[in-house]
Formats: sequence, structure tokens, C-alpha cells
Amino acid sequence: MIAAVEIGPVAPPTNRGRSKAELLATVSASRLGTWLGCRLKFYFRYVAGLRKPNTPARHVGTVVHAVLQQWNLARWRRTPLNAETVKAVFEQKWTPPEDEPIAWDADEPKVAVKEQALGLVEMYLRETPIPPDEKPEAVEVSAEMDLSAHGLPTLVGVIDLVRAGGRIVDFKTIGRTPDGEMALHNNDVQLTAYALLYRDATERRESALELHHLVKNKTPKLVVTESGPITGPQIARFYRLVESYVRGVELEDFVPSPGIQCAACEFFNECRLWH
Ligand code: SF4
Repeated sequence: MIAAVEIGPVAPPTNRGRSKAELLATVSASRLGTWLGCRLKFYFRYVAGLRKPNTPARHVGTVVHAVLQQWNLARWRRTPLNAETVKAVFEQKWTPPEDEPIAWDADEPKVAVKEQALGLVEMYLRETPIPPDEKPEAVEVSAEMDLSAHGLPTLVGVIDLVRAGGRIVDFKTIGRTPDGEMALHNNDVQLTAYALLYRDATERRESALELHHLVKNKTPKLVVTESGPITGPQIARFYRLVESYVRGVELEDFVPSPGIQCAACEFFNECRLWH
């Protein structure tokens, strides 16, 4: 088990934390993304296993994902959902599990957040570039890829959607309209991981990668950012990042990375106690 770093009394390791062996056995895009963003945040989340109340923004993202998953599954079964059923699925997903309370914000009434979430789903179904009769190749599919030949952990991940013809889609709910190239750059690790997993599982090359951003503007909007198949340099870059992850976890190199991302970090208080 990795030893706890010195952070004071508020953040003892919990039984949700993972051992070094577990962290080195597999790696996912989200774990790698947290590692690259801030190693101390990674420590709090994955080693100490600290859990914080869910935020309204994360709840909206989870619910929108869940409804779109059902919408995609219904197309896969050739029984598309009508507007009424979509609303019923939304209502069902909106109630959070009892053990996952949400820290509602006093400035943003719950009912307004719910309306915003439903508005995002309705906007997406109006504006999506995916034809209603297009059968997906795969929906919410778990995959893993053995990277032991490279001396690396097994890559694991869940792909939101693979459209007909091998178009990999990832859904995002965000607060600001994304810039195309920056969005691809910011999501490079995730998209490369999904493309590698797809290639390994199907022995085919993906035809495209699509980010479907559902933007939480006053009037919600959809921004689709697309790129072609991943390139050799992207793959090499991804492997270098995983190598760096492996070295860092082995050394227990959990240092903070203060910066703009700290404003949204749920471990801010614990971080201030770190030394
Ligand atoms: S507050 Fe910033 S530096 Fe501290 S753990 Fe969070 S992201 Fe890292």
C-alpha cells in the first residue's frame, strides 16, 4: 500500500483508496488525466480514496450521459425513443442514489438546474448530427488493451458510443463554448485511449473521433468537434505519458500543481494542509 503523504488530520486514507500494485496494474484515460492535471489531486482521489459530495454540474453531466446512453441503446435495438419516453428516462435518472448526495448551490435553485439538464437533452436530440435510424456499432462499451509488451499497465476504458463506420463519439457537458483545436488538445489523452482500445478490440482503424459538446448556455447549444484517426505521433505521445505515470506512481511523486484548475478542485482544503 502506498504510504499517506503528510497532509494533516482531515484526509486519512480510506478503504476506497487503491494500492500501488492496483494503480500500476491498469490505467484509464480519466486516471491519467487526473494525474497529468495534478498529482496531489490524484493522490487524494485514488490513493487516499477521499469522496466529496457530488456537485450539481457533475450530476447534470451524469444524467445527460445516462439519458443519451438509453437513446443510443434504443437505436441499437431499432426501437428509437420518442420524446415522452426520453422525458420519462430523464425523470428516472434525475433522482441521485442515496449514498451520493449532491451539494446543491444556494444561488442556483435545484429546479433551475433540472430544467437546464432537460433542456440540454432536448436540444441534443433536436440538433444531433446522428440520424435517428443510424444503428450504432457499440454503446457504452468497456474495453481493455494489454500494454505489457511496452512494459506498461493494461489500458482500460468505457467508450460512450461508436457510430456506424467506426466513428468514436464522446459526450461532454460544459459551461463554455469550446474552441475546436483546443478541445481536441485538451481531450487528446482520452481520444487516443479510446482509439487504441477500439483498434485493439476490432482490429480495425477508427474512421473519425467526435466530441459532442452540450454547452450549458442560457440557450443550450451543440458544438461537434471532429478529427480524423489518431496518428503515430499521438500514440507515441500517449505511451510517453503512461510511462511517466508509471514512474511517478512507483516513486509516489504526489506533489501539488497550483494553478487555474484549483478553483474547481474538491480537495482545495486538504491541499492547503499539505507540506
Ligand atoms: S487545489 Fe490545485 S494544487 Fe491542490 S490538489 Fe487541487 S488541483 Fe492540485
